[in-house]
Amino acid sequence: MKTLTGKELAAAIRAEAAARVAAGPQPKLAVVVATADEASLWYVRSIAKAAAGVGIAFELADLGPEATATGIRETLERLSADPDVHGVMLQTPLPPGVSAQELAAAIDPAKDVDGANPLSLGRLAAGLPAFAPATAAAVLALLDHYGVELAGRRAVVVGRSTVVGKPLAHLLLDRNATVTVCHSRTRDLPAVTSTAEVLVAAVGRAGLIGAEHVAPGAVVIDVGTNPTDDGGLAGDVASAAVADRAGALTPVPGGVGPVTTALLLRHTAQSAGLM
Ligand code: NAP
Repeated sequence: MKTLTGKELAAAIRAEAAARVAAGPQPKLAVVVATADEASLWYVRSIAKAAAGVGIAFELADLGPEATATGIRETLERLSADPDVHGVMLQTPLPPGVSAQELAAAIDPAKDVDGANPLSLGRLAAGLPAFAPATAAAVLALLDHYGVELAGRRAVVVGRSTVVGKPLAHLLLDRNATVTVCHSRTRDLPAVTSTAEVLVAAVGRAGLIGAEHVAPGAVVIDVGTNPTDDGGLAGDVASAAVADRAGALTPVPGGVGPVTTALLLRHTAQSAGLM
């Protein structure tokens, strides 16, 4: 089985973005945070570090876990209207009762570098230009990087969230794959997933996808990032169990994750007109 790592691709994307950024006015990415969730704050710090690495300015709007929907909306509107800001991202989780999807509508679609505004998903579904959520775009970028043919092939996506599963299904459809989307109410999941030539797991359950879910030779992309007891990360795919069946598999960590962050920066440079 081939291991499809994301580190080299992520480095190449960052290097290209850095070269473009160096040649133009400095873009800025702003991230709005309203949580004390340590994993979420760690991710935001990793974005800040990666942004610094490619020369993109970074603004953190940390509203704290007590933030209200109104406070978050006003901050998103302020950043969207700021001509010095080129990318606006709303980090989840949000305080209880606050809907990320509703608030993301306050992000200017032109600066919606993580494809969170429902308009961006709608445009994606309609085949119009839009920023795709960076994670969904990262899955496609990895498949392209490793030369995985999509046209006419059976692709199964497990998970139908608006951040990963749904936008990814549209991206794969756009590339002429025959796409099936599974979710928690799918009956006999292994029977469906084992028809896939390209299988994407975006569920959030460590080790859910075992050998019985995977067709021999399938390309398997593991989007899951599930915290483990020892402070590490586990994917949705039981990698040891599928190793003898899959043709290729992305590792967790080191697969989709680094490409996601790199694409967020590329999108910011694009939004600033540099790419
Ligand atoms: P989410 O919003 O919780 O969605 C999970 C999806 O999985 C839902 O559609 C759910 O179905 C489905 N599901 C749950 N249990 C299932 C089961 N037993 N069988 C089949 N489907 C099942 O999660 P998300 O935000 O899409 O994230 C998914 C995973 O990707 C998480 O581990 C997250 O941490 C990770 N992630 C990684 C990155 C990255 O850059 N690497 C970025 C974003 C997310 P229903 O719709 O029926 O509830």
